[in-house]
Amino acid sequence: MFLSRAGLSRRCKSKLVMEERDRVPAANFIAAIISADIKANKNDGKVMTRFPPEPNGYLHIGHAKSICLNFGLAEIFNGVCNLRFDDTNPIKEEQEYIDSILEDVQWLGFDWENRLYFASDYFARFCEFAVILIKKGKAYVDSLSADEIREYRGTLTNPGKESPYRNRTIEENLDLFERMKDGEFPDGTHVLRAKIDMTSGNLNLRDPVIYRILHARHHRTDDTWCIYPMYDFAHGQSDSIEGITHSICTLEFEDHRPLYDWFIDELELDCHPQQIEFARLNLTYTIMSKRKLVRLVTDGYVKGWDDPRMPTISGLRRRGYTPESIRDFCDRIGVAKKESMVDMALLEHCLREDLNKRAPRVMAVLKPLKVIIENYPAGKVEELDAVNNPEDPAAGSRKVPFSRELYIEKDDFMEEPPKKFFRLAPGREVRLRYGYFITCVDVKKDAATGEILELRCLYDPETKGGNAPDGRKVKATLHWVSANHALEAEVRLYSHLFTRENPADAEEGKDFTSYINEESLEVLPNCQVEPSLKDAEPESIYQFERLGYFCVDRHDCTGEKPVFNRSVTLRDTWARMQKKV
Ligand code: ATP
Ligand code: MG
Repeated sequence: MFLSRAGLSRRCKSKLVMEERDRVPAANFIAAIISADIKANKNDGKVMTRFPPEPNGYLHIGHAKSICLNFGLAEIFNGVCNLRFDDTNPIKEEQEYIDSILEDVQWLGFDWENRLYFASDYFARFCEFAVILIKKGKAYVDSLSADEIREYRGTLTNPGKESPYRNRTIEENLDLFERMKDGEFPDGTHVLRAKIDMTSGNLNLRDPVIYRILHARHHRTDDTWCIYPMYDFAHGQSDSIEGITHSICTLEFEDHRPLYDWFIDELELDCHPQQIEFARLNLTYTIMSKRKLVRLVTDGYVKGWDDPRMPTISGLRRRGYTPESIRDFCDRIGVAKKESMVDMALLEHCLREDLNKRAPRVMAVLKPLKVIIENYPAGKVEELDAVNNPEDPAAGSRKVPFSRELYIEKDDFMEEPPKKFFRLAPGREVRLRYGYFITCVDVKKDAATGEILELRCLYDPETKGGNAPDGRKVKATLHWVSANHALEAEVRLYSHLFTRENPADAEEGKDFTSYINEESLEVLPNCQVEPSLKDAEPESIYQFERLGYFCVDRHDCTGEKPVFNRSVTLRDTWARMQKKV
């Protein structure tokens, strides 16, 4: 069915209204639940949330949504939010990931104060919990192989089958579990399973494995343990131990909730956190699965976790995203129960809005074309006044040197301009920003290749500052730098990492790597930037006039030549899309 234009715009408008409403933090459905709980004096009116990452990769923008939500709700309701690592899988977890996660959460502007926890700190407690279940006849040691366990589990349409080891006596189970813990058995020989219901419609309740043997060194507990709890056995109990009131997680855990409730009820724990699920963030032209992000890094598709093309927080940071812009984005997307895909253009829009207010303007020429002003005295230098930020008068002004030899952008000149090209061309007059009007009088070319090497121009001394006393107009204002004063810089231009809106949705025989954008990085080694950028600090962000926002690379800025990453262009497709609605 086709929607009429009017119908379409009505639909979009109502979506907009909803988004507006969602921007008020207290208006999201989780806040509404918490608010009602406080009114009912549930948990004595207290609110405690947590952000629970597994240290098996770097955080991404989806995690930022969860961080903003958990820390944000705690703040709104005068509660606290813990940072807890759910570090139950020593094989995939590393200290490097812990360090990066701590750095990223802090950088985003959130403070866990003294509430940094690790599920691994509770390993002894989890063992006690396991023993309680065994003693109640609610857990048993199974000696089927992993394959057999899978086979016995059944499917969504077929019930599972009970293991022949399911009815071991309590004594036998206690003995075997103790010996598993003591390291008597090799990996994979036994597991501890909850004894629930092999015919349950919910596969998570078909006697899930809660402990496995793994002779692996853990990044925090070293070789203390050779059995490790499964994530599902650790997560809910960790929340309970910490006294979490509202355990907020993504929708894929909805089906795990009955299991988490079962554990806490059977263990008769005092604190029973209330789990509330919300939809994960999905963003166009990128991927959000840690498993896939790891592949991008290990297979060398990008240069590390903080490659500025990555959707990781450290990648966004290196690209020039500010914590404010990311928090604003998380606010705007709201929180819902239904999966959806957010347009990357919205994230970019949030960055532009933030930087437009704050970023100092400078002039930089990415693809330099030499301009000689024939009637400007050789050796003369004028210091022209340039406004630092028209959005912020307090930012003041600076001086930019002007001289006989300049660089302008190659793209700002055409020898045979088509109708709508208003920039420089032979015989045409344009304005140089903060400078003078110039007219192109000659074009010097390479005799062999025909490449344009240099433009010869004349300037009008009467037009200093950018206006002609006789009132004549020009159609374009170009940015420029003085050739002898400019600083050489490397500029890295980035675009989407994938060519497909949803790379995870791959055609048959392909996977997400088939859609990597080969042109997602363009390096321009010989750019010319104005001299005021000489002492630009790593991570400082500027608007290069007419080009976009650029930040000094955090890591590659040693040595003489600064490196700038293009954070975002000036063209705002999001704002344009909104106008069309
Ligand atoms: P894994 O497959 O490794 O578990 P994960 O993305 O779930 O990957 P976690 O470290 O377990 O990673 O996530 C920490 C928290 O962030 C969890 O509560 C999870 O629900 C939430 N989270 C993860 N991805 C997103 C996302 N795309 N949008 C919103 N929240 C997310
Ligand atoms: Mg997870």
